[in-house]
Amino acid sequence: MTSTHHKAKQFQAIKGVRDILPPESVLWNRVEQTAREVFGTFGFAEIRLPIFEQTELFARSVGQETDIVSKEMYSFDDKPGGMPDPGPFVIPEDYTVAVEHAMKTGQIPLNPSNQSIMASVRENLKMLRKASDLSRTQEAEQAYMRWFVALQHLELGESITLRPEATASVVRAYIEHGMQTLPGNVKLYYLGPMFRRERPQKGRYRQFYQIGAEVLGSSDAPGIDAEVIEMLMRLFERLKLKGAVLHINSIGDKNCRPAYVEKLRAELQKVREQLGPDSQRRIETNPLRVLDSKLESEQDIIHKLPRIADHLCESCREHYAEVKKQLGLRGIKYEENWRLVRGLDYYMRTTFEITAPGLGSQNAVCGGGRYDGLVELLGGPATTKGIGFAIGTDRLVLSLQGEGEGEVQGGLDVYLAWFGAAAHSAAIGLARRLRDAGFVVELPAVEMKFGKSLGLADRLKARHAVIVGDDELAAGVVTVKRLSDGSQQKLGEQELFSYLRAGNA
Ligand code: ATP
Ligand code: MG
Repeated sequence: MTSTHHKAKQFQAIKGVRDILPPESVLWNRVEQTAREVFGTFGFAEIRLPIFEQTELFARSVGQETDIVSKEMYSFDDKPGGMPDPGPFVIPEDYTVAVEHAMKTGQIPLNPSNQSIMASVRENLKMLRKASDLSRTQEAEQAYMRWFVALQHLELGESITLRPEATASVVRAYIEHGMQTLPGNVKLYYLGPMFRRERPQKGRYRQFYQIGAEVLGSSDAPGIDAEVIEMLMRLFERLKLKGAVLHINSIGDKNCRPAYVEKLRAELQKVREQLGPDSQRRIETNPLRVLDSKLESEQDIIHKLPRIADHLCESCREHYAEVKKQLGLRGIKYEENWRLVRGLDYYMRTTFEITAPGLGSQNAVCGGGRYDGLVELLGGPATTKGIGFAIGTDRLVLSLQGEGEGEVQGGLDVYLAWFGAAAHSAAIGLARRLRDAGFVVELPAVEMKFGKSLGLADRLKARHAVIVGDDELAAGVVTVKRLSDGSQQKLGEQELFSYLRAGNA
């Protein structure tokens, strides 16, 4: 008999997503841990959010005209359960009740459209009953048909989307849990993956990670904006991120921005033919985004466009001036960049971005700004204002690695080589005590020859090999070998701990 061995298919991660492996994951943890610590000292607490939400949440908050909503979202229909099984005989009364029950339990989405369909289902059922009671067969048949057809129109699925960003979710949660009744400003931070179907390249992935924070409350005091930025800069300092540059701008509010946008649109119309297709499209959909363009051929044109700073209303101008003053009080340097507009629709007034070296053209590690109308837009109180930012963790880590801050400490303190059954048992106990004391210990699972075992200790880059054999057991000591220089000595357990501590200090 001949047998052909088909090699099993191997799998690869999907385009644009990636694994974060050790030791890089150690750096990721350090970044996230430092963020938790720094944000904690500013009174922020973590909010853990769902990875998916109703598509409509993002459509409404991020904005239909943005790249994110128009083409980058991972959306799909969630079909929770479908129609109830009608069984062999359909009794319209019973089946209607079953469908209503399915809507109550969430098996069929309970949305306004389905609710109005059910109203007409009920109506037709009533007519059906009446016609049958009066033995008007033809009318009854027609009512039955209408009842039946109406049911076919129920929406069985609900569109849901993997979150492309998290501010919308934070605001949704803020409203859903009535957080406006909490005292003071609500300060929340989050971290986790986001999803956008973009063209993958260095620093741009389809699953990427953000660390973000939001302040929600009734105040829009410029001191809040300044403190949020201060918190960010403290984080970057603590991480020793070099060469971070803070760019700020004010893009006005709903009083002054519309007039500016119209003016901008009018000016853009005049130069329409000189612009690329993206910018041409944005004249209609989102003229502010033209300012964001990196196209070489458009730079001279953009340079001559009207600037928002000259069109801010009195209160926006004052707000912006005060933000800058308060940044000064905190010793924070910034560059004003009139072309800085955020990609999402909900921003107003203060916007900011932080760039870092070593990232090529994807050099923004953080974007943020004020979004005073968003809570109201999502059905919350009109008085709630908000400001926040999102750090692109992938890019932050890339930049830290590029700046030589990616070196990770740690590694293996002790490789615990044992020889013989009695030594094995002693080594298991010693390993536990060492680990309880915080040392990183590798205990070989099977017995190895001396040379092979010590060779592995070397290759694992252990700092020390601790050797337990029959001789050591008899003498009540272990042999400890420092692998950097090969120096070796016999120590009792207490001495061993002191020796390792001194070596780690
Ligand atoms: P960009 O202009 O670089 O596309 P953006 O304006 O789309 O950024 P935001 O939506 O403000 O970015 O997100 C905040 C931060 O998240 C960005 O500054 C960036 O560091 C990071 N980020 C955004 N999209 C991606 C992505 N696809 N891959 C990796 N990081 C990203
Ligand atoms: Mg983008």
